[in-house]
Amino acid sequence: MRIAIGSIQCEGNSLTPVKTKYSDFDYAKGEAMYKKIQVVDFFRDYNCEIVPTIYAHALPGGAVIKEDFLRLAGELVDAIPASGIDGIWLYLHGALYAEDIASGDTYILKEIRKKVGYDIPISVAMDFHADNTDEIVTLANCITGFRTAPHCDHKDTQIRAAKSLIYCIEKGILPKPQIARANVVICGDAVQTSQEPLKSLMLLADNMERNIPGMLSVQVFNGQPWIDEPYMGPNFVVTHESCTKKAQECANILAQKFYEIRHDFKFEVETAEPEDAIRMAMESNTQVFISDSGDNTTAGASGDNAYMLNRVKKLDAENVLIAGICDSCAVDKCYEADLGDTLALTIGGGLDKNSESAEICGTLIHRGDILSYTGGNEGPSATLDCGKFTVVITKNRAAMCRPDIFESIDLDYKKFKMVIVKLGYLFPELASAAPRAILAFTPGSSCERLQDMNMKNIRRPMFPLEDNFI
Ligand SMILES: [Zn+2]
Repeated sequence: MRIAIGSIQCEGNSLTPVKTKYSDFDYAKGEAMYKKIQVVDFFRDYNCEIVPTIYAHALPGGAVIKEDFLRLAGELVDAIPASGIDGIWLYLHGALYAEDIASGDTYILKEIRKKVGYDIPISVAMDFHADNTDEIVTLANCITGFRTAPHCDHKDTQIRAAKSLIYCIEKGILPKPQIARANVVICGDAVQTSQEPLKSLMLLADNMERNIPGMLSVQVFNGQPWIDEPYMGPNFVVTHESCTKKAQECANILAQKFYEIRHDFKFEVETAEPEDAIRMAMESNTQVFISDSGDNTTAGASGDNAYMLNRVKKLDAENVLIAGICDSCAVDKCYEADLGDTLALTIGGGLDKNSESAEICGTLIHRGDILSYTGGNEGPSATLDCGKFTVVITKNRAAMCRPDIFESIDLDYKKFKMVIVKLGYLFPELASAAPRAILAFTPGSSCERLQDMNMKNIRRPMFPLEDNFI
């Protein structure tokens, strides 16, 4: 068997003006992509000949610039032979947002079909936060995705998609996945697969997949909420090897159940309005991590908003670490100065016109490259001790979501009473190190409440903007 494989991923956010560009992608071409994906051994065990294309993965961000996206998609499609292959395996995010195109994932599949036709199977592995279009289920033969949020089944998902592909090739079938939707938007840590009410729904999907004969995949996708398009939101994609009626029935049941449990989703983490969160941390006996959730870089936001820094100054909070704020010019100024110098800087507000800037004055205590959230290099950073607070400034958008990222810039976050991070829910490694965590409902392009997002193009009615519409 000859299998073409490819992967392009970027979780999109259509609300931020900061575009994602070609150079933002961690990129590997040809056999170099084998190190980035986890199905190579599986396919080799089946004596498959693998035809590599490209792997490109970027930090969640705004729309991918049209020509940059077309270049990436073109590289992937060009590397797929027009004939002489038995199947195609893809690993996509499912919420890639491309400028003037919207769903980049749908575009990629369409271009592949134009080239190879509809007679060979395509199997796709996706993120749990995929916003699938109606069209995508007409282009792929099997669609599966992560079954965990926070995600810890990347490999399983890739393998499941590979198994389905082999199954389709061996049986000579071209299944047609079916989709159903729930008009319900639930954000952040309220949607965890190990917690109710989602836990039971995941179990139901699992039972359908295991127990219904001929079922290839029963998949719950929560969608990514920060995409202002009609296809945004929870979607349920079911692939049966031959019976589209059965697949549609199962998808409909899951969508209906998701609607029924909409009131049962609750934030696991403590939540508060921004200034209340700071006051709660000031009064707390233990260290507190505060998520500046509206400017969450892991959800695609710009990461340049000094909103919380300004509130920390206003409330005169002490012993605070602001981790961090993206400001390329301010970092350049820090690299022109000497360690130990006192610098007066304006930071933030350079990327998103809705972001605030802040005036700070402090001692430059550290400079150096910061680790990226995928383990690579996110570029230069500077740390300033401003007396009552310390602030990390990064040249590029960064996500300080794990202890090793703080360590990469010699920063001991444990010594601060309050640590303000640009995240939604804390990543597991940080959550286990945080005595207490509060999610602050800050404004921004990754805000956690649909009513704060000012969406114009999503389907309506949509819970929680409307309720009791079924
Ligand atoms: Zn995700």
